[in-house]
Amino acid sequence: MGVKINYAKLKLGIIGGGQLGKIMSQKAKKMGLHVSILDPTPNSPAAQVSDRQIVGGFYDCEKITELVKSCDVTTVELEHIDVECLKKLENEGHTIVPSPDVLMRIQDKYEQKKLLHEYGIPVPAFKEVKTEEDLEFFGFPVIQKTKKGGYDGRGVLQLKSSADLQNAITAPSFLEEMVHIDKELAIMVARNHKGEVATYPVVEMLFDERVNICDSVMAPARIDESLHVKAKELAISSIEALDGEGLFGVEMFLTKDGKLLVNEIAPRPHNSGHYTVESCVTSQFEQVVRAVVNLPLGSTKLLCPSVMVNLLGEEGFKGEPVVEGMEEALAIEGLSFYLYGKEKTAPFRKMGHITVLDENLQIALEKAMRAKKIIKIKGSELL
Ligand code: ADP
Repeated sequence: MGVKINYAKLKLGIIGGGQLGKIMSQKAKKMGLHVSILDPTPNSPAAQVSDRQIVGGFYDCEKITELVKSCDVTTVELEHIDVECLKKLENEGHTIVPSPDVLMRIQDKYEQKKLLHEYGIPVPAFKEVKTEEDLEFFGFPVIQKTKKGGYDGRGVLQLKSSADLQNAITAPSFLEEMVHIDKELAIMVARNHKGEVATYPVVEMLFDERVNICDSVMAPARIDESLHVKAKELAISSIEALDGEGLFGVEMFLTKDGKLLVNEIAPRPHNSGHYTVESCVTSQFEQVVRAVVNLPLGSTKLLCPSVMVNLLGEEGFKGEPVVEGMEEALAIEGLSFYLYGKEKTAPFRKMGHITVLDENLQIALEKAMRAKKIIKIKGSELL
């Protein structure tokens, strides 16, 4: 990109039209950019607030090419996409941030772990599964993960004993030692082409045990100041090891004996960063736009503690979403409500979220848990 860029006229392409693309697009449009979305579902959540949608799949090279060629900069809201196609377009001179090489490194969780380990970043002990005997390498219990394609707990399996071996993942996979987790932490890191880096506060992720989906996020994490500092250093080193540009969510485990281990990296806005919209000076969604078009990064200062809760589709329902309890929940002071505009609900599908701000994090948590009990995303049809 040259010197006299009219940033407000830039054409931004986003691969993926879900909630992350939607809020990213809203922030890009706030700054005047023109936004195009690629998503297979017509009228996707992001398309509802953007200038244009190309209807096409994430492995449809023809449609990806159409998007990239019609935009000045292309970014992503998911990593399971045709990176070979993006690599070809980058070689032809198109700007794609994060780069296809970085996306490739992240797409394969085993390669990602290997790279972090080579750079001296602490990760759980891991081993590639090549033969059936490899599955018994760490003993039991142990965690087996698919190399590619997993998300929201899919592609992650706990093998409790040798009896579980018959259910082991057959796709290319690797093993990880079972970590004794005290807390699951996450940090958003932005890095632009100039090499400027900005980190957000360390947050704490709480999981829905039933499906392994991150359920709530507490900002900031309830950990010692020294751990905040260490976690940030580790997050920055991880992005430098990848040579990543853009915005990244770095997930970590705090072990019961006080160690930090990097679990995985997402090359895009992240569920654990939703809170930044209301809680921080610059939201993760504005930050990613700044980072990918190489503008100065915004302040990541926390203005007020908060708790974010995902609104997942209720079990037993499908069809058009039907929201219950909005009136009662929105009466809670400091609560912000999001419904993504997905046309169909499904059990545990991420349909929206709430963020509750309060100077006192414990009170924010209590209010958020109260709201979670009140708001239900049901559907027009019973399953
Ligand atoms: P996904 O990409 O699906 O989120 P993760 O690697 O984050 O996959 O794993 C999902 C969840 O499984 C984690 O949030 C954590 O609760 C649990 N988990 C993953 N790896 C380990 C491990 N090595 N030891 C213990 N629990 C783990």
